[in-house]
Amino acid sequence: MSIEFKTVSYTYSANTPFEFAALKDVDLNLRKNKITAIIGATGSGKSTLVQHLNALILPTSGELVVDEFEIKAGAKVSNLKNLRKKVGLVFQFPEYQLFEETNLKDVAFGPKNFGINEVEALDKAMQALKVVGLSKDYEKKSPLDLSGGQKRRVAIAGILAMDPDVLVLDEPTAGLDPQGAIKMMELFGNLNKDYGKTVLIVTHDMEHVYNYCDDVVVMKNGAVHLQCSVDDFFGNSSILNELNILPPYVIRVKDKLQENGFKLDKFKDFDDLCNQIIKEIK
Ligand code: ADP
Ligand code: MG
Repeated sequence: MSIEFKTVSYTYSANTPFEFAALKDVDLNLRKNKITAIIGATGSGKSTLVQHLNALILPTSGELVVDEFEIKAGAKVSNLKNLRKKVGLVFQFPEYQLFEETNLKDVAFGPKNFGINEVEALDKAMQALKVVGLSKDYEKKSPLDLSGGQKRRVAIAGILAMDPDVLVLDEPTAGLDPQGAIKMMELFGNLNKDYGKTVLIVTHDMEHVYNYCDDVVVMKNGAVHLQCSVDDFFGNSSILNELNILPPYVIRVKDKLQENGFKLDKFKDFDDLCNQIIKEIK
């Protein structure tokens, strides 16, 4: 089981005056059954990178391997349909792509497209709506009658209904209110823990990276600048400074306390930090 990029480069509009090298010699090995954050400035190549995973775009050179699937420059992917079933890609603002008259039909569209019969597809759609936290009342409603966050859940359910092993989400919390964003991240956390999904999330939110992700990949100018565990990443202040990243709130609190002579052990989360502070004060 593996997801591996081997010297993958991608150039938009190759051999035209608009040629642009968006990915340059990307080597990556992504851990299965983990949540990996892909971060980096706008234009650094994050969306281009993740669109390779279900062969929506093919490398200009190099190749990637997703389990038994090979996605190579200049070659057709054999069994593309199965690859698309294995890797579910949720675009940025997927809610713009809802088009059926009811949410249930919209979510069932994918499985039906993969040749599953109507009854079974509707059943998968019902389950997927439940997983994303939309009650039965929403099945018969039109996507047009939902809030932005609910629409996005329907769009995600449409991907989940195909039961992908790998779920790739391009800025899934962009534009959501803070509570909605947290609920969305909790959903991905549960999909990873309860259903064993491998999750890749493109995000700009360091709190989300810290609280929900295991690994982090930093993209810079179309190349992988860094790949490491989230703990190592936020434990290394010189890297954070160099990348001009404001660390998550708890890390900033911890740094300030340590600067002021507090003795703190490694801590897991906010509650753990609070308990250590209380112990230290006492
Ligand atoms: P990110 O998701 O990190 O913001 P993208 O992968 O969308 O970055 O884009 C990487 C670079 O490729 C950017 O400079 C962008 O302008 C360029 N790019 C993206 N899509 C296209 C396209 N369809 N044609 C030409 N250039 C593109
Ligand atoms: Mg993008």
